[in-house]
Amino acid sequence: MAWNFAAGPARLPDAVLAQAAAEIFRRGADGACALERPFSGPDFRALLARARQRLAELLALPANYRILFLAGGAMQQFSILPLNLCRPQQRAAYVNRGYWSARAMAEASRQADTIEFFPPADGVWALPADCAYCHITPNETVDGSACASLPETGAVPLAADCTSSFLTAPLAVDKFGFIYASAQKNIAPAGLTVAIIRDDLLERSPADLPAPFSYRRQAEANSCVNTPPMFAIQMAALVFDWIAEQGGLTAMAAAGRRKAARVYGAIDGSGEVFVAPVAVDQRSPVNIRFHLADSALTETFISEAAAAGLHHLRGHAHFGGLRASLYNAMPEAGAQALAGFITDFARRRG
Ligand SMILES: *Cc1c(COP(=O)(O)O)cnc(C)c1O
Repeated sequence: MAWNFAAGPARLPDAVLAQAAAEIFRRGADGACALERPFSGPDFRALLARARQRLAELLALPANYRILFLAGGAMQQFSILPLNLCRPQQRAAYVNRGYWSARAMAEASRQADTIEFFPPADGVWALPADCAYCHITPNETVDGSACASLPETGAVPLAADCTSSFLTAPLAVDKFGFIYASAQKNIAPAGLTVAIIRDDLLERSPADLPAPFSYRRQAEANSCVNTPPMFAIQMAALVFDWIAEQGGLTAMAAAGRRKAARVYGAIDGSGEVFVAPVAVDQRSPVNIRFHLADSALTETFISEAAAAGLHHLRGHAHFGGLRASLYNAMPEAGAQALAGFITDFARRRG
């Protein structure tokens, strides 16, 4: 058995891959498979409606939010978000929690005035009232940290890059004005970003924005201003169905806690051969950052792990070391195999 712990593009559920082969790539009586029919036709329209409906059910989406299926990755939204939500003279607040927060702010700074915030030690947020929105990255994929609590932003809408935590746990959508997640971590193959926007914010999109980038025009056009990423959307629909069959987001969160507890438990119980550097109350349940106390053993660990069927454990270049991503599609057996290998390696090499 081989397990893929990549941070993204990440593992997709086995059942979804099998279903995709049977449904998405099969030719119908018209000689076309699902990927070859017009995006404006009845088949794809029905698929979009089904995907949107299923996602709304998973999230218990309040009625005043719209789901958009947008082309491209999360980084496109780093620039498109300020273009849509910042009125002239407004600033945007960015909470710096790590690698992706900082990149989001760097890109946004080219489009609007931004202010940087760090989570306050006393938990009291002092956001200027003239902010168009406050941006946060609740799960930092590279740092391996998850935020314990959201900023209190009052009337300032909260905008969140949920790329690596989307659909891994129930989400209080009503706390946010805008949520986005690129697909390749937890939703579908790359090429798609799912965005959720509160209705009142749609009015902010300036009339002169290029149409594919305008949240308002995309909402009006049912996410079909131009050809949407049809394959990724069809895969997303299958993944949404799969999550619902597994018991929804509560079940995803419970399984996620069990998987994370196994792997962190093996690291913490390794007699300090392995170190998980993130403070316990901020550890991400999905992206586990760790390293060997003796960094000279890193390459040995990576090659022995691969020989044991445990792949893509090298850490992001920003921090080095090791990282294991345990998204929804990673079965508990995968986390168990990794935890067992970590314990065994510590015993042999410690
Ligand atoms: C992976 C990731 C990104 C980058 O996503 P792209 O789709 O490659 O642009 C941005 N933010 C977070 C939190 C991520 O995990």
